[in-house]
Amino acid sequence: MARECEEPKYWRLVNAIMRQAILAIEEVMGTRGLNVVLREAGLERYIGSPPPDNLELGAHASEYAALNQAVLSFYGRAGKGMLRRIGRASFRYGVEEQAALMGLVGVGLKLMPQKTRARFILNQMAKALMDTNDDVCITVEQTEQGLVYSDYSCAVCYGQQTANPICHLLGGSVSEAVRWATGRDYQVREIACRAMGARACSFLVEGVG
Ligand SMILES: [Zn+2]
Repeated sequence: MARECEEPKYWRLVNAIMRQAILAIEEVMGTRGLNVVLREAGLERYIGSPPPDNLELGAHASEYAALNQAVLSFYGRAGKGMLRRIGRASFRYGVEEQAALMGLVGVGLKLMPQKTRARFILNQMAKALMDTNDDVCITVEQTEQGLVYSDYSCAVCYGQQTANPICHLLGGSVSEAVRWATGRDYQVREIACRAMGARACSFLVEGVG
């Protein structure tokens, strides 16, 4: 993509993104589980009242990261798998609530070859996220190993420093996007993480291309 990605500083997410994560957490953890992690993350204001389904700026990126951390500490070692499930559900809410924005209405996916479908959905996802928020910057590139989706503005790990990649939620969304478009499960691996000092959080969709 033509746009040069710069690291966003203090920035906020659009309401729909936080809403999708919260609905997804409720689907996976139940209402009580959701309320526990909302409290833990300092997001009591969303208990019984998720953000509206609109594109206005709402929660700060650090609050999204705090929510991710709260799910991780709730589940401990099982956190990675739960966050991937939450990421998958989050993508499905995105498609349900923002299909037009994502450019998915009336698209003849079935007419496209498999690899084109995967690239199409990741490009649409990146474009929708960037069109609705000037601080978001994402690239999708073809490599020999597969497609690489890189988010220079990943909010999952905002402000975190870790020894391992931690953006399982976003990895789950990328996996679900590719499954949604192709009907197949591809291996998705986080190959770089901002929390480990990388410029972007990068996800390799293995074997596509
Ligand atoms: Zn990240």
